Amino acid sequence: MSRARKKNSKKLLIIVIEIICLIALGCGIYKIIDTHMEQQQQEEAAEEAAAEAEEQAEAERQAEEERQKKEEELNQWNLLLVNPWKAMPDDFEVKTAEVEGGYVVDERIADAMKEMLADCREAGYSPQIISSFRTRETQQYLYDHTANKDDTAIPGHSEHECGLAADIIDSSSAGWADPLIDAQEELPAQKWLMEHCQDYGFILRYPKDKEEVTGIIYEPWHYRYVGKEHAKTIMGEGLCLEEYIENYDKY
Ligand SMILES: [Zn+2]
Repeated sequence: MSRARKKNSKKLLIIVIEIICLIALGCGIYKIIDTHMEQQQQEEAAEEAAAEAEEQAEAERQAEEERQKKEEELNQWNLLLVNPWKAMPDDFEVKTAEVEGGYVVDERIADAMKEMLADCREAGYSPQIISSFRTRETQQYLYDHTANKDDTAIPGHSEHECGLAADIIDSSSAGWADPLIDAQEELPAQKWLMEHCQDYGFILRYPKDKEEVTGIIYEPWHYRYVGKEHAKTIMGEGLCLEEYIENYDKY
């Protein structure tokens, strides 16, 4: 081999080595970058998972809070459920206040009832209370002396005893032998009350076609206080109190 060729082969060898070194270096750098990116991705994924878990825990906390709030609301006095199957609590005490004409109700609902009656009169109608709070003795007397026990609440099971309800008629029916009949719904004051009672926190407690659920006949005169928000939902959705309480988490 000539000297010149020998020199050329040496050069070529150096170039090859240099290329190999460069490739090796490149691979090394690539490996470092790749590892770093992988680490970063793992960290990001871990952060994302932690954020998701936190979000879920927060949603669960909120759902639990909401459930507790609803349960507390359900236990409030204004949503007290009393019907043929559920008696009023034994220790239930009523502080009464007069609405008008000697008729008294729970003092917490007296102003709302006064306002409802005043606005009904202002609109040109003539509502008249014919029954409001009853003592246990009065309810017992009514029950003992009624001709139809099916239509009179058993003592301890009447909303009148709770002071949260009143029977209101159109005064034009005051002279009827019995104003507490379905025809009451056709009278103007009654129509106004049925349309507006929820604005004052009242509901028509025993609606038509709900006798099976309430255990009480249709009574287009018995108004029960539940509070404005509840009343608007109950009247708006065409429910009775039993249905509303049973499905309270939906509303
Ligand atoms: Zn009544």
